[in-house]
Amino acid sequence: MSRIVCIGECMIEMAPTTRDAEYRMGFAGDTMNTAWYLRRLLPHSDEVDYFTAVGSDAASGQMVDFLAREGLGTAHVLRRADRTIGLYMIQLQDGERSFSYWRGQSAARTLAQDAGPLSDALDRAQVAYFSGITLAILPQADRARLLDTLGQFRANGGEVVFDPNLRPRLWQTTEEMTASVMQAAGISDTVLPSHEDEAAWFGDADPAATADRYSKAGARTVVVKNGPGQILACQDGTITEHAPVAVAEVVDTTAAGDSFNAGYLAHRIDGQTIPRSIQAAAELAALVVRSRGALVSTGGA
Ligand code: ADP
Repeated sequence: MSRIVCIGECMIEMAPTTRDAEYRMGFAGDTMNTAWYLRRLLPHSDEVDYFTAVGSDAASGQMVDFLAREGLGTAHVLRRADRTIGLYMIQLQDGERSFSYWRGQSAARTLAQDAGPLSDALDRAQVAYFSGITLAILPQADRARLLDTLGQFRANGGEVVFDPNLRPRLWQTTEEMTASVMQAAGISDTVLPSHEDEAAWFGDADPAATADRYSKAGARTVVVKNGPGQILACQDGTITEHAPVAVAEVVDTTAAGDSFNAGYLAHRIDGQTIPRSIQAAAELAALVVRSRGALVSTGGA
């Protein structure tokens, strides 16, 4: 039995319906999306926990109910009396999607205020998963606390998995973003970046340069996603390339990377090889980009 803890922010998602000025409420967020797919891919005996902070209002309660209903462990979710959860709204104009966010004061920003609850959540876990968005929403001291706690977890034999998910708008400066992301890579066993973002903010010439940078930072395994391009893996310095699954008509790329990460991790946890795990990850991501929305039912559990 494995226990996996995903750490980050889940938000209310308001998505337009086909009726004018009508929105459907859902819940999404990068690390939660990955947890959601992991829950569907892993056997029932494995635990997938979500670690975050929410408010104590009705909307926060609905989110925790949603997480629990979807099979995610919520025992360690922190409750804050003075905050609520973040929200984003998807607007559709002439077929183009744009996003507006209300998350500046979200409860999730306090998830690493104390090391105790974090350590408790990681107790008995084999894998901890977090992202650059998890880091971006935290005050500087809390970010350091999170990385320290994850570093401890790794030193005690846990596996730390990190997706840089670079979002410059969530950071005060791009320097702070790149420095924090490299620091996070330094305490991670596995880093799962997307080359397009990495090229934009680190100036990587190609996926091999991305893999090389994170390997040098200390990651044993780096799997570089690249949209419809070749996926590159670097394991202990050895580079291999893997074909994605061709998709004739891309409908919505939301959560392509998040689902890929879940597919990869679930198969690695199941003892599959890196090539087989990447293949499974690419198959899942291909399915996800062919449908609308972040959480696409895969016909599994
Ligand atoms: P992110 O969503 O994090 O930006 P990418 O765009 O690199 O990540 O995509 C993640 C994975 O999703 C890719 O490695 C690939 O397997 C799959 N994917 C994304 N876009 C496409 C596409 N147009 N065709 C086929 N697969 C895709």
